[in-house]
Amino acid sequence: MLRQDFNRVDPKRRNVVDHRKKQFADPAYKENQYPHRLNIYATPPTADITLEQFEQWAIDRLRILAELEACSFRNKSFPETLAHMKPLLDKYLPLESNTSSSTRLAAERQKDHYSHFILRLAFSSTEDLRRRFSRVETMLFRLRLELDSAKERMEFVQSLNLDWEPVSPEEKMKYLAELGAISGFRKGGADEETYFKVDWERVPDLVESRRVFLRAGKAFVPSKELSSMVSVEFTKRLHRALELTARALPRLDEDDRLTPILDHLSKNFITPDSAYSSGTSDVPGADISARNIDNLSTNFPLCMQHLHRSLRRDAHLKHFGRLQYTLFLKGIGLNLEECLVFWRSAFHKVTDDQFNKEYRYNVRHVYGDVGGDSNRRGGGYSPFSCQKILTEHPPGPGEAHGCPYRHFNLENLSALLQGVGITDQSVLRGVKEDKEKQKFHMACNRVFEHVHKNEMKQAKDEGVMTSAQLETIVHPNEYFKRSYLLKNLNKVKSEDVKMSE
Ligand code: SF4
Repeated sequence: MLRQDFNRVDPKRRNVVDHRKKQFADPAYKENQYPHRLNIYATPPTADITLEQFEQWAIDRLRILAELEACSFRNKSFPETLAHMKPLLDKYLPLESNTSSSTRLAAERQKDHYSHFILRLAFSSTEDLRRRFSRVETMLFRLRLELDSAKERMEFVQSLNLDWEPVSPEEKMKYLAELGAISGFRKGGADEETYFKVDWERVPDLVESRRVFLRAGKAFVPSKELSSMVSVEFTKRLHRALELTARALPRLDEDDRLTPILDHLSKNFITPDSAYSSGTSDVPGADISARNIDNLSTNFPLCMQHLHRSLRRDAHLKHFGRLQYTLFLKGIGLNLEECLVFWRSAFHKVTDDQFNKEYRYNVRHVYGDVGGDSNRRGGGYSPFSCQKILTEHPPGPGEAHGCPYRHFNLENLSALLQGVGITDQSVLRGVKEDKEKQKFHMACNRVFEHVHKNEMKQAKDEGVMTSAQLETIVHPNEYFKRSYLLKNLNKVKSEDVKMSE
């Protein structure tokens, strides 16, 4: 019966797309209440917002997440991260506590809630994006949790109904000695602490590091470990939710208003510490052309200098080397035509025919010029950040890509550094120590500071660059840009030198 009715529907009407009905199974409007400053984002928002709000709120949150990721990459400690993030959070994603008299409380919480869900849509498409998104969202959550007052934090945790049973005073007295021992309290300290009981499987990291007392399948967790427990729960839920979102994504593709915005957002997350894909890294006054790459290469970071030297030596680079270098050159502002000229002349041992067949396509592809990619987000791929170079595709024999600070042994690294003119013994010693501590980008920054010592001092003294603009570099293209500008301080007008913060 139902089937017959369905078949009688005018077939033309079935094609009418109602975006709201297609995307949300139950679009009924439900007023969101925000009794707490923090949110575990269990309920999706349903109220209307404008497209401008949709985009702006997401961009603001993205700024925060990208900064958090950069802080973690720079190995900033919690207090350093907090000091760095506080003004940014106040500016882009403020969240006042319940005790505040701010009239914007509800609006702030709404923005926080909506922006989280918008980015969920943008970052659930691949496993890599999901993992990174949940990692930085957890960092943000934890930062805020730590900043909450003890009272509000406890109220928020209780609202989550996490199935954690408070340990009764009698039980606590019974196990006081054991609880004191695991918490590392001096005598009497455990007495004042509050404990919760949870199934031990829910806190594997605390069990493993022996920070809880185990009894009859339950872990007794001191309240000082609350943040870690709540954060684990937050990550777990977010992971699950992101997978569900990923499954629902194909339906969203039909929405031609949101898809371009979401694409744009996820592209920016791919290169959080840069915006190097669309010419924003252009260096004013620089001659970025095929014939000038040899000159410019003195301003390249070691990874790219090594690629350039290998290319000049062998008139060839293997696939990942070509990819890493082409993206970098694209990022410094070399256009596609010039890039093709550059590669063609560099590969002078191969014939035109061979070059056209085996290499031309790859370069055009990277620039987003072929394979239907010209409409791809921003056209082609984004230059690799240090993080990507350091962690993905380590070079094999005969390959020149990667980061020398990480992928070379000490002997070869010293030889390469000396080959590019770094002979100062204290710098070489510092690089060795950085490498031993696996702080590869620190080694890179150490070399940068040594090479640009005088220019950095001049730039600071003359107020052309602030300390913030000269802080740790985490992208090869940023290295180039800063290096070029510093080495040409007198040529480039001071307004041009000022880099975006
Ligand atoms: Fe290149 Fe980054 Fe390694 Fe420096 S730290 S050499 S910029 S990958």
